[in-house]
Amino acid sequence: MPQADPRDTDDIALHGITVRYGRAKASVTAVEDVSLAARPGEFVVLVGPSGCGKTTLLRIAAGFVTASEGTATVRGEAPVPGRATGVVFQQSRLFPWRTAGGNIAFALARQGVPRELRAARTEELLARVGLAGTAGRRTWELSGGQQQRVAIARALAGEPQVLLMDEPFAALDALTRERLQEEVRTLAAASGTTVLFVTHSAEEAVLLGSRVLVMAAGPGRIVAELETGLERAAGTDVAALRGSAEFSRLRGELAAVMREAALGPAAG
Ligand code: ADP
Ligand code: MG
Repeated sequence: MPQADPRDTDDIALHGITVRYGRAKASVTAVEDVSLAARPGEFVVLVGPSGCGKTTLLRIAAGFVTASEGTATVRGEAPVPGRATGVVFQQSRLFPWRTAGGNIAFALARQGVPRELRAARTEELLARVGLAGTAGRRTWELSGGQQQRVAIARALAGEPQVLLMDEPFAALDALTRERLQEEVRTLAAASGTTVLFVTHSAEEAVLLGSRVLVMAAGPGRIVAELETGLERAAGTDVAALRGSAEFSRLRGELAAVMREAALGPAAG
């Protein structure tokens, strides 16, 4: 029997990806020969220092950037922005002239949802991120955490099987960040969404990821991988998980691997 091509069954598959920015002589190699895959329902976290190419890889999966070398597929096809993926950035990037609901309705319109269904669907999406009843609020009336919630709701508008998140909580205060981490973990587990999540925080990586890929810079590449194995069933008490001994152990282990990766082989 022919071996199934893993790219047909993985939700995200990057193979031998090299990205160079700029023209020939002045070009920067952002990432070199990176391969990674996410199976359906997997929560994969990319962790590494600033400049190691995390955002670049996310942009490849989103279809915003084309690789200089290598192939990328999402759900078996070349990535097209907005088709199979929802994207959340560090800054919410909401339209300031639209209301919270207006931002989501706009995304629904782009997804081809008929006008008469948009209001109800908007309310549903806001409720999923804990913002029921806020559709009429102006975006500047919302806290940073609420704005990120709207951005997540907007990313879910197309009911993507794949969610790409680029340091979405980095600009939030610690308590809001913890709350949103717990909510996103729960949301992903309940919906079976495949997530590729970028962070530079070991704590965030271990809490969220079922698998953590550690990157190093110069050029950007994956140098280590950690399976976390923390409970992921829907209904898991994520806040309690954060207090567990196993969580502390994993966080320490990852932090050590990250330190080693940052120092590079010469330092070993
Ligand atoms: P990270 O998200 O891990 O901080 P990035 O993917 O943003 O890393 O960047 C990786 C490398 O590519 C960095 O050296 C960065 O300066 C460079 N880079 C990123 N985007 C561009 C761009 N549009 N033009 C030129 N260089 C870029
Ligand atoms: Mg980045």
